[in-house]
Amino acid sequence: MHTPSRWQRVRDVVLSSNPRRRTLVGMALLALVLMACSAGVMLMIAAASSEVDAVAVQWWAAISVGGLMVMTAFIRSGATAGLADPSLTVPQMVWTITSGAVAYVLAGDARGVVPSVLAMILFFGTFGLSVAEVIGIGIYALLAFACAVAATTRYNTGPFGYLDMAYALMVLIVLGGSIALNLRIQRIRARLREQREALAHALAVNRELATRDELTGLPNRRAMQDLMGLEHRRSVRSGRPMLLAQLDIDHFKRINDAHGHATGDRALQAFASVVRASVRDTDVLARWGGEEFVLLLSETRLDDARDLLERLRHAVATMEIPHTDGALRMTVSIGVAVHLPGDTVDLTLERADQALYTAKSLGRNRIAVAPSTPRGTPLRGARA
Ligand code: GH3
Ligand code: MG
Ligand code: MG
Repeated sequence: MHTPSRWQRVRDVVLSSNPRRRTLVGMALLALVLMACSAGVMLMIAAASSEVDAVAVQWWAAISVGGLMVMTAFIRSGATAGLADPSLTVPQMVWTITSGAVAYVLAGDARGVVPSVLAMILFFGTFGLSVAEVIGIGIYALLAFACAVAATTRYNTGPFGYLDMAYALMVLIVLGGSIALNLRIQRIRARLREQREALAHALAVNRELATRDELTGLPNRRAMQDLMGLEHRRSVRSGRPMLLAQLDIDHFKRINDAHGHATGDRALQAFASVVRASVRDTDVLARWGGEEFVLLLSETRLDDARDLLERLRHAVATMEIPHTDGALRMTVSIGVAVHLPGDTVDLTLERADQALYTAKSLGRNRIAVAPSTPRGTPLRGARA
């Protein structure tokens, strides 16, 4: 088993071992570090300027960083995992913007540093939020800073000046830029999503084409080979019997010759649906090629299979395919073989094919069973 390195163990303890949550905790920690750095800058400003209320700035720093710490702890604990926004991006941004607006008031003449921090916050959120959320957050930022500018004008000594106007404009410019960037990211995301969906669709169509016969909708030879291999392993494990039957429509060439290829195609489709309706859901009918089909009967005893195949043969013989000059009828010959767990699927198919040959040579429209006993025993052909 893969043993985690020491770094991975530390990472798992700090960020979580859940990859999705690890990303969220990582982002929250980054926001926390940025906030702590901003708080450090504010404390430096407080130390340098006698106008700034140092105690208020210390409280501000503790509350701002503390709030983000609490949110990070919530994310790390997994308590937010069930929420629509498990990253708490919106609350984090509201908290940080509020804290920035308060810092704007507290910083006095040094308040010019705050709008650049706000720019970073808005650009950050741009990557994770919808357009509506970016606009909402932007409006909140404008209101918060309008209050901050008003409070600054009211409580600081100087009057409202061009500097505050410039800062307010800076907030507006950053907001416009964030919205433009957000729209661009959303478009790129939508295109990526469309491409991913188109690719998934193409892959599904391809898989379908690779495993289905287009005319009848049945599994094709290749898909049937996989299914038989799977069923073989299951029957070896469980010891339950499995049977393989080869079905071949009698004198099909005559139908084509007399009524045309298109009618032949319709006859093949009708044959497939009648046979499918005659077997159980767990049995698998596949188009082996041309007018030959293989039927896999899992967990079936030979006696039961004989009854089932007889019903099937009868259903085909009595089916009428509407046609321009009257109804069309057809019959089927069937060779069936019990799959012996020690044998390969190919060998069982070969035995079923030999039985089919016997059914044909005995006059068609009948079922023949391949002998299960030592090879070479004459095949039993029975008119059903
Ligand atoms: P038998 O009773 O011995 O099986 O006679 P048959 O005529 O059924 O056998 P044969 O193998 O000689 O002919 C099979 C015919 O099936 C020949 C071929 O043109 C036709 N066939 C194979 N695939 C298709 C198909 O997809 N559509 C149509 N319409 N005919 C097909
Ligand atoms: Mg045939
Ligand atoms: Mg044939």
